[in-house]
Amino acid sequence: MTRRDSVVALSGGIGGVKLALGLQGACAPGRLTVVVNTGDDFEHLGLAISPDVDTTLYTLCGLANAQLGWGRDGETWSFMTELERLGGEAWFRLGDKDLAVHVERTRRLAAGEPLSEVVADFGRRFGLATRVLPMTDDRVRTTVETVEGTLSFQRYFVARRCEPCVTAIRYEGAERARPTPAALRALGEPDLAAVVICPSNPYLSIDPILAIPGWRSALQSSRVPVVAVSPLIGGEAVKGPTAKIMRELRLEVSPLTVARHYAGIIGGFVLDEVDAELAARLDVPVRVAPTLMRTLADKERLAREVLAFAGTLRGAR
Ligand code: GDP
Repeated sequence: MTRRDSVVALSGGIGGVKLALGLQGACAPGRLTVVVNTGDDFEHLGLAISPDVDTTLYTLCGLANAQLGWGRDGETWSFMTELERLGGEAWFRLGDKDLAVHVERTRRLAAGEPLSEVVADFGRRFGLATRVLPMTDDRVRTTVETVEGTLSFQRYFVARRCEPCVTAIRYEGAERARPTPAALRALGEPDLAAVVICPSNPYLSIDPILAIPGWRSALQSSRVPVVAVSPLIGGEAVKGPTAKIMRELRLEVSPLTVARHYAGIIGGFVLDEVDAELAARLDVPVRVAPTLMRTLADKERLAREVLAFAGTLRGAR
């Protein structure tokens, strides 16, 4: 019998990658593939920037800035200071080490290398065994419709700090985008044990992936269980605008809404223990677990719990 020990995780940025880091610890080296949202990608100062991909790379390599929660460890800010002095655009902070990544990525993309190959090579150079793959090599751009007009994702998220009331979210280019070939191969590997949807923002981080038709159908026809972890605990997001956006879109701020949002894709849902009483109201199998991830031990414990849950669902198939 094939040993099933490889895992594919879908993730956005800071919130989702907490579980991805736990999964990396729970899986044997090189057995985890993390598929990352690129709807947040944008061009800034002439550079191609992929915030969620970089957060994932930095975190999984142990190079992330723990104080800021984003960017590189031991970062310096000479470039930004000089840019501001010159009157340049300073609303999106780019540290010096981070800047090198953007400059080199931009050069390689301009030379015709697909984003997935650039990211794979950066991962190798950082010594990473986990595969980090952008959801697509094609251009997808999350655009936020607000009461103040249409905003590109980073204008909404960083420049306006998610303040404008959201009326709709679009994923421009998703309809024509194709999943990264390496990611589809990972989904088809005979030793695949589970697909995990990390507790990322469903609307800003996971939906750009699901808006790509090839991703949606690949997940719908997955041979192994697809399990999602709730990003809401006790009716609130741990961090970020998930609950605010749900209220603005007139959705009930509840893990039930998130689980139903993933209907047709997930075969199981992980609820936080404070929401245990909601389990009876879901029509997919549920595992109740402590899902607040503060320490690495929390992340690895939740990852093992999620994989054990997926194992029970596989057995039931
Ligand atoms: P971000 O926007 O860059 O933080 O990236 P994501 O979209 O990946 O993550 C945002 C989501 O992560 C929010 O909805 C948070 O509620 C959720 N989140 C953050 N930390 C935790 C945690 O420790 N446990 C759970 N269950 N969700 C979390």
